[in-house]
Amino acid sequence: MDEFELINSYFKARASKRPEVVYGIGDDCACLHIPSEQDLLVSMDTLVADVHFLSTWDPYDIAYKAVMVNISDCAAMAAAPFAMMLALTIPQPDEYWLARFSEGLFDALELHHVALIGGDTTRGPLSVTLTVHGLAPQGQAVRRNGAKPGDLIYVSGALGLAAFGVNHLSAPDVLQSVHQPLIKKALHHPTPRTDMILLLREYASSAIDISDGLLADLNHLCQNSGLAAFIDMPSIPIHPILQHVQSSRQQALKFALTGGDDYELCFTIPSQQEESFLNAMKSSHMRCYQIGQMREGRGLYTLNNRRQYVQLGACGYQHFGQEND
Ligand code: ADP
Ligand code: MG
Repeated sequence: MDEFELINSYFKARASKRPEVVYGIGDDCACLHIPSEQDLLVSMDTLVADVHFLSTWDPYDIAYKAVMVNISDCAAMAAAPFAMMLALTIPQPDEYWLARFSEGLFDALELHHVALIGGDTTRGPLSVTLTVHGLAPQGQAVRRNGAKPGDLIYVSGALGLAAFGVNHLSAPDVLQSVHQPLIKKALHHPTPRTDMILLLREYASSAIDISDGLLADLNHLCQNSGLAAFIDMPSIPIHPILQHVQSSRQQALKFALTGGDDYELCFTIPSQQEESFLNAMKSSHMRCYQIGQMREGRGLYTLNNRRQYVQLGACGYQHFGQEND
């Protein structure tokens, strides 16, 4: 199988159409038509074998997760994803591997109506790079730098299950657990929060997706906005399954705060907008969790069990943990 046949059978055959894509795979460039009054937002993510995923993973899951991680970057900025490019490096053209990879890729793309518009295929150590293209009405993309003192900090869903999966998915008690399929899903098939895009555009002053862990990513919002975050630890939405499979609350909280890979969103809402934001969420049957407030200053803070504010350092949780152990 030469490169041309490979691209045609595994990537071109199932590529879907979108009105913004004038033409995609087959020419030296893809051609996109950007609707007037819209901004084009572009983001790239690389997943390297044995760094971001194990080469023993089902290729279906590798592709699926790569797509979802990229779509999550669009959701974080309130941009609607519509097109992707794929740079694929593989050790050798293994047809079973490519077929599974292509299946996972297109299942994920089709779920979000995203077209594959081109890419590059090379031989080498396994890695997957995707570039996603998204659209937002001019000036309405939500950045990391827009939070103001007093803004309320929210997260879009429960945290920690994917990180638990990274550490425990192959443990015998987890393999036999009724929760195993959901833990596996959290790790391999995350759901990017594209359902939040319209709410973010309307209400959020800043936003980020939680890929590295809540504390690390919230810290980026703080740094970019030049502010401090005061976090209410009891409000952190620890994933309910963690409460079943993880006996220590401290350990469950640690996964939720620092685990990463959740692909929920962390965002800020001006406090005067809170009521209408909560009403809008309610009428769209969504649930978000308020976890703190932005204030003047730098860094992350929380109350210890003596009701004193303590700063969470770079490996923040440990500091917090020691205060509470
Ligand atoms: P060139 O040699 O001009 O860079 P290629 O032979 O690499 O072109 O690619 C031919 C066409 O196939 C291009 O439109 C390119 O975008 C597309 N393509 C190559 N690899 C992939 C891939 N892995 N997924 C999707 N499209 C691809
Ligand atoms: Mg060319």
